Amino acid sequence: MSADPGIEILGTGQREAWRLNRLPPVERLAGGLWSVPVPIPDNPLRYTLSYLVPADEGLVVVDPGWDTEEGWAALAEGLAAAGASTGDVAGIVATHVHPDHHGLSARLRAESGAWIAMHPAERDTLPHRAERGHGDPLAEVAGWLRSCGASEEEAAELGGALQRAPRPSAEMAEPDVLLEDGDLVPVHGRRLRAVWTPGHTPGHLCLQEPDAQVLLTGDHVLPRITPAIGARPGAGEPPLAQFLDSLDRTAGFDDHDAFPAHEYRFRGLTARSKQLREHHDRRCMEILAVISEFGQPTPWDVATHLTWSRPWPEIGWMRLSAVSETVAHLEYLAGQGFLTWHKPEPAGPARVLRTDHGSKK
Ligand SMILES: [Zn+2]
Ligand SMILES: [Zn+2]
Repeated sequence: MSADPGIEILGTGQREAWRLNRLPPVERLAGGLWSVPVPIPDNPLRYTLSYLVPADEGLVVVDPGWDTEEGWAALAEGLAAAGASTGDVAGIVATHVHPDHHGLSARLRAESGAWIAMHPAERDTLPHRAERGHGDPLAEVAGWLRSCGASEEEAAELGGALQRAPRPSAEMAEPDVLLEDGDLVPVHGRRLRAVWTPGHTPGHLCLQEPDAQVLLTGDHVLPRITPAIGARPGAGEPPLAQFLDSLDRTAGFDDHDAFPAHEYRFRGLTARSKQLREHHDRRCMEILAVISEFGQPTPWDVATHLTWSRPWPEIGWMRLSAVSETVAHLEYLAGQGFLTWHKPEPAGPARVLRTDHGSKK
């Protein structure tokens, strides 16, 4: 990996640990914040960087991590390093409700009496809310895959793989406090401002600490990995369009250090936000090229002909996120006037009807 222009790695110990496949150390950072790695079971990301933010009332914990005994012990160790214990936790903020961020919130609230805060659009995606009143979620996934052009066998196989994937052990916690864009986290002696950055999830928040000039970026901007942007059935504005708009926001924090939820700390939010945008531009070009070869492909056809980290037949259950990512790009391209399509619907498979080059709105 060569050094990227405009991006400076701040968490050099974290980067070294990443390279050596180890957990990075607990570290005290600018503004008196603490970074605590909390392990994620069976996941190439390996850990979530949980942040402890001291305030007058006690500590605010941003993204407590995945709910396992090992994760709980790692969080307790981080609190001890900061001279605190669970009883000193005043509040919890979830940048988003993925289980590697919000998993431990329920247990931490139960042990500390702390409140939990998140964006209202994120609360609405909590699995028990999103699934309420619907049928079997695995059957829904298989149905969605068929509507994207997967065969019966492929849809069944991926639905089964999803069933075997690690799942959160308990129902995830509802918030006590809702944070809209620009709101301050409700503590004294510390400014921590919510910056709404939808895209990776609908209610994803970054958190700005203006005095220390730090932006906690959650999963929105990471130094090396491209955050997954998948299709969300029933979403209003295409998630990819939201994500690109959110990148324009984070590009404005170039004088802030970036404290991400995975990998390592860095500086250069303008350059990194631009790189992520360029990644999606290239992906859109690649998709349009595949479509022009095919005629009227289904999203599944398009996905099978894109470049992935490994050849298509070898990516296994990751085909599910690959198709979801492809649909997110098709949705975005359609919204921008680059193509016309039938989107995935139970009535029949999705299909690109034509590309509309040059007719960008
Ligand atoms: Zn995430
Ligand atoms: Zn994450």
